[in-house]
Amino acid sequence: MSFSSLGLSPALLRAVREQGYHAPTAVQAAALPPILAGADVLALAQTGSGKTAAFALPLLQRLITAPPRPGPRVLVLAPTRELAAQTAQLLRDVAALLLHRPRIALAFGGVSINPQLMALRGGCDVMVATPGRLLDLIDHNGLKLAGIDCLVLDEADRLLGQGFADELQRVLALLPVRRQTLLFSATCPAAVQTLAEQLLRDPVRIDIQEAAPQIKQRAIQLDRAQRLPALRHLLKDEAWDRALVFVASRYTAELVSDKLFAHGFKAGALHGELSQGARSDVLAALKAGSVKVLVATDVAARGLHVDALDAVVNYELPRSPADYTHRIGRTGRAGATGVAVSFICADSAENAESHFRVIEKRQGQRVPRERLDGFEPTALASEAQAAGGIKSTTRKSKKDKLREAAAKAAQDGH
Ligand code: AMP
Repeated sequence: MSFSSLGLSPALLRAVREQGYHAPTAVQAAALPPILAGADVLALAQTGSGKTAAFALPLLQRLITAPPRPGPRVLVLAPTRELAAQTAQLLRDVAALLLHRPRIALAFGGVSINPQLMALRGGCDVMVATPGRLLDLIDHNGLKLAGIDCLVLDEADRLLGQGFADELQRVLALLPVRRQTLLFSATCPAAVQTLAEQLLRDPVRIDIQEAAPQIKQRAIQLDRAQRLPALRHLLKDEAWDRALVFVASRYTAELVSDKLFAHGFKAGALHGELSQGARSDVLAALKAGSVKVLVATDVAARGLHVDALDAVVNYELPRSPADYTHRIGRTGRAGATGVAVSFICADSAENAESHFRVIEKRQGQRVPRERLDGFEPTALASEAQAAGGIKSTTRKSKKDKLREAAAKAAQDGH
């Protein structure tokens, strides 16, 4: 799936490239066409899913293609100052790349209202605000909502949960009845359902959440040196037919793929420094089944669509929670179940455990830590011992010694 197949104009496609987005996320693929067509949308999608761009891109496109008139024409309501600021930032970043730049205004409470009133004097096309401050601005004659033709409720569950229900109803009473309404929410409690029924006309319903439980997430603690043998063990034991292994660099992609190949796995590497022809070949091989394990970097795997990938392995953790979402989204697609395994190495240079906690936080989900028999992390084991923990380091078995030797050899080759 590419952005160009979703109806974005060349100007917006350029802006998308500038943002570094290579392929649409699930919510973007589902939401862009109906929003561009002017339909109401109810989208259940969490932060991290790319939901902001899912409404920001089509709304900006509609703004620049519509005949100009005094604004604001789009109102985005957000529950918190941070979310409002982030949304306005994306809108401004994209708007700055357009020829006729829509003007984006931002307002939230907890700071003086005067600069916000001043900023509105020159007019705006898009108003991003928290509900309470928006009403204050209206009370101060800072703006009118009579020209709004699109309302976005972002994180509607939090808007209602944070006691904004009354303010919301006051704002709604000031809006024209004929308009497009987009409701984004991470969850769909009864209050959101009621709001959706009140506001949306014949909405397109998008549920990105439904796909999430289809991906079983696992986090395995182990030493760096054990990653390769542990990966081989998983590939054998789990009977995955097709797996995608993510690494951080071209070098590691080649290395891991070579080592797997040497151990008899049908492995291939995919990274940004391969020629287009070589990339196409390895993807075709994956499709045909002559490659079963693809070791890839993030850049190369963006937008990769391969049906029926059983597993994604984060051999090295991604830099950002958004990349994590992207990576694990390569499995469990279109109703199939998938597993996403992350290696958490206590002895990694970056603090993998705390990095993974940030990822979990952004996902709103905790992934239980596991250890694989025979691949227990030595750092943690000795910590537990030092703390008088019950885990004792038994004498190493012959198998363990062999594994360690193999791991060391792999590392030395690294
Ligand atoms: P959001 O769910 O809107 O908070 O977005 C989460 C993160 O995903 C943000 O950091 C965006 O920059 C990033 N993002 C959104 N869309 C894409 C995309 N199509 N490709 C890559 N990253 C994206």
